[in-house]
Amino acid sequence: MNLTLLGLPGAGKGTQAKKISRDYNITHIATGDIFRILIEKGTPLGKRAEKYIQQGKLVPDDDAIQIVKEEFSRIDMNTGFVLDGFPRTLYQAEILTEILDDMGYRLDMVFFIKVNPEELVERVAGRRVCLNCGATFHIEYNPPKKEGICDLCGDELIQRSDDQKDTVRKRIEIHSNKVDELVSYYKDLGILRIITGQSIEEIYSNIKMAIEVEL
Ligand code: AMP
Repeated sequence: MNLTLLGLPGAGKGTQAKKISRDYNITHIATGDIFRILIEKGTPLGKRAEKYIQQGKLVPDDDAIQIVKEEFSRIDMNTGFVLDGFPRTLYQAEILTEILDDMGYRLDMVFFIKVNPEELVERVAGRRVCLNCGATFHIEYNPPKKEGICDLCGDELIQRSDDQKDTVRKRIEIHSNKVDELVSYYKDLGILRIITGQSIEEIYSNIKMAIEVEL
């Protein structure tokens, strides 16, 4: 099963992708996480990506495509995957279709997590992440047991520099048109599933229902 998740920043793509990956035993590929690792390692691609990410802009398509291609060559494609944060532009979506086609695979479903845009700034600004294990929390909606400490690995939780309110507003603005284009591209391909819900659990249960229909 090969999936991807669409949604504005703060819609909960990462949270849902982790749950799907765990329950259906498929590989989670999060382009934002990979960029953060490359930035930390100081690789040339990481250095290139850093300035875009800090300004809340999208990294150029070719760099995003390169990391996804590398992941596809590294993982066992027969296990299946859930992409999180890719594609983010129509061009990336078209190239993804080509790459998968060349490898003899295709996307089975694309989940668009539809959230009221007014809620997004608060959601993202309250997000805290663990750089060690990738776990995500929210100071209000999903707080860690101990403030500032990751429940899973005990490391310190941080606020991503691009999760500050002003940068979030900019990210949402930049992403809105692009998400609309992606939604219509995948709708035309007949693989789009629109997912709504108030809580993490409600959204996840709607995703699971959509998956079970196909299995
Ligand atoms: P995320 O963790 O998915 O919110 O991604 C963090 C940042 O990484 C985004 O705001 C972009 O700057 C960059 N990024 C992640 N995935 C992509 C992508 N597919 N295309 C371009 N930039 C990306």
